[in-house]
Amino acid sequence: MPDLNIPTAPAIPGARHLHSGKVRDLYELPGGDLLMVATDRISIFDFVLDTTIPDKGEILTRMSLWWFDQLADLVPNHVLSTDVPAEVRGRAVVCERLAMYPVECVARGYLTGSGLVDYQASGAVCGVALPAGLLDGSRLPEPVFTPATKAELGEHDENVSYEAVAATIGADRAAELRDLTLRVYGRAEAVARERGLILADTKLEFGARPDGTTVLADEVLTPDSSRFWPAGEWAPGRAQPSYDKQIVRNWALSAESGWDRSSGEPPPPLPAEVVERTRSRYVEAYELLTGSRF
Ligand code: ATP
Ligand code: MG
Repeated sequence: MPDLNIPTAPAIPGARHLHSGKVRDLYELPGGDLLMVATDRISIFDFVLDTTIPDKGEILTRMSLWWFDQLADLVPNHVLSTDVPAEVRGRAVVCERLAMYPVECVARGYLTGSGLVDYQASGAVCGVALPAGLLDGSRLPEPVFTPATKAELGEHDENVSYEAVAATIGADRAAELRDLTLRVYGRAEAVARERGLILADTKLEFGARPDGTTVLADEVLTPDSSRFWPAGEWAPGRAQPSYDKQIVRNWALSAESGWDRSSGEPPPPLPAEVVERTRSRYVEAYELLTGSRF
């Protein structure tokens, strides 16, 4: 496994550490519920940076909670409570432990990223044929479900066909996840658009309760799981300005950072100015979407 530079998760009294991803730490609480902690970590090019972005974990946690509320009539979600241990207050939720489906449920309304790469190679994304002549950032004729396999830590997710998903989890489940994913995308895209943002694509994760009910889990519709673009600046045919880690990526690749991407070393610590601009970008996305001050 490549070294992703993930720090050791802090001990939380009364919780047992289960897993750390690049950004989130997962714990088990007595009784079996999960404590999902969003840290201030940021990752680019699969490296977790040594520099953190103040308040990022809290902003993304609040944004996810806000979205779960917006979607509550479409699909049940895994959130049980925001009453969490003091050391992670504001940036963690207690959630029900689900049997996660081994599928990253992606919906795309616009073409970019790995979808664009697949389209340029084959004219299709995840087996869905698309019209000729689409550019980076083009709006698709209609939103498409483009599932991916969940990769192990440090590996890349791989786009797969709908048929491959059906073969893994069964045709009924696959149809349910596709339907829910497209419904969530449709709702969220409309909400974002009213606020001047394009929701280009989003990645959702679902799990099953012991009784078989499908539940929306993980984080939802944050800049870490979704591409939001300022609608006023949208222009297909180039990379779109976005509300995620673009500032950090651009800095790391610039001569100023002195970083050699091919070195295998993590990027150097971020200058304070890059940290502040990145933090502001996350705050801006939160405030635009929710309409409340962070
Ligand atoms: P990475 O960027 O490496 O994916 P991350 O910070 O997103 O890192 P993950 O490694 O994805 O962290 O950790 C979150 C894990 O928790 C995922 O495997 C996700 O499927 C799982 N998960 C989310 N919600 C639930 C739930 N309700 N029950 C069980 N597992 C869950
Ligand atoms: Mg993840």
